[in-house]
Amino acid sequence: MHAVTHRQLFFQHVAQTSDFPLALEIDRAEGIYLHGSGGQRYIDLISGIGVSNVGHRHPHVLEAIHSQLDKYMHLMVYGEYVQTPQTQLAHALSQTLPPTLDNVYFTNSGTEAVEGAMKLAKRYTGRTEIISCFNAYHGSTQGALSLSGDENFKRNYRPLLPGIRHIRARNWNDIEQISERTAAVIMEVIAGEAGVRVPDATYLQAVRQRCTEVGALLIFDEIQTGFGRTATFWAFESFDVVPDVLLCAKGMGGGMPIGAFISSAEIMGVFKNNPILGHITTFGGHPVSAAASLATLQVIQNEKLYEQAEAKGQLFRQLLKHPAIREVRGKGLMLAVEFDSFDVLKPIIDHAIDSNPVGVITDWFLFCDNSMRIAPPLIITEEQIREACSVILEAVDTLSN
Ligand code: PMP
Repeated sequence: MHAVTHRQLFFQHVAQTSDFPLALEIDRAEGIYLHGSGGQRYIDLISGIGVSNVGHRHPHVLEAIHSQLDKYMHLMVYGEYVQTPQTQLAHALSQTLPPTLDNVYFTNSGTEAVEGAMKLAKRYTGRTEIISCFNAYHGSTQGALSLSGDENFKRNYRPLLPGIRHIRARNWNDIEQISERTAAVIMEVIAGEAGVRVPDATYLQAVRQRCTEVGALLIFDEIQTGFGRTATFWAFESFDVVPDVLLCAKGMGGGMPIGAFISSAEIMGVFKNNPILGHITTFGGHPVSAAASLATLQVIQNEKLYEQAEAKGQLFRQLLKHPAIREVRGKGLMLAVEFDSFDVLKPIIDHAIDSNPVGVITDWFLFCDNSMRIAPPLIITEEQIREACSVILEAVDTLSN
């Protein structure tokens, strides 16, 4: 009998979400590198996806995890016991934010932060309408999926949530649709899956003003943009707009699962009664994840990783010049490299992954398949950026003629 390979087990027993998974077998990861079981080395230019902002297995994060493992893991459902990793993290997060964002509800994932925030807005305002943007991505559960602006992903899962209205992101006329019926407007500060679209500050400010006028909450989804990715700790900092609710996850855990929705104590207070236990979770803010997250936050701040993200992003832009590249968009280390079509881009991505002696991992966006996603760990060095770009350019040269 032949020994069953891990690859066979993967295809037999691990549920698949496409007919063409990457199926890379990774033994070990360190910094910006993934090491394959056959000895291959890959530069991770997408941080799997938007998560490993401090790199894979950052020593400070590992140390925090080990030390928390020696104390306790899960103790009790969310919000009942005073758990130091949670209290320290909540404090540290509020130190990075304006005073109105000082109350943190921990979740296990980004989608759960979105779900919690939707309930919070409905309960706080007593309204039911939630406004989201076309081409937004906020998660895959039925509530979060309802917010998605892409019919293709929703069609076969209806009925979804009623009361969702979609507006065009960065369109001034559509701001008028935010009304006294609106409980909340949810927006990505920089739209990720739409292909990294950066708005004008004045647009976000106008949305803020309209929300304030009509009494709707403004929710910023910083699940992809937070934790230093776009050259400030939070993306909203450079737009001079403060949301009522802020969502984070992904990069927040330094490789461990954790998310949060953050608001004021006044708004968050509605979960306490009518009914009591307005939003509950068993594992939200798991102590080991919270310890990892605090260490991640400290690494990003102490090493000022967000300050370097702009210059590093510029270096990518400078190097990724080629007749087949139509545009490089983005901010900090959240970039989209646009080609003519998916048919041009896909073989380039595949070729870069298979390159020797080092492969480069990139991909495309859910709602923008002619653009290559570049979102490396923020710790990537100038030399590593040059190495990664030369692999990409070699792939572009080989395949675009
Ligand atoms: N919002 C945004 C902007 C995201 O990019 C994502 C994940 N791609 C989510 C929400 C959902 O987060 P998660 O996959 O952790 O549930």
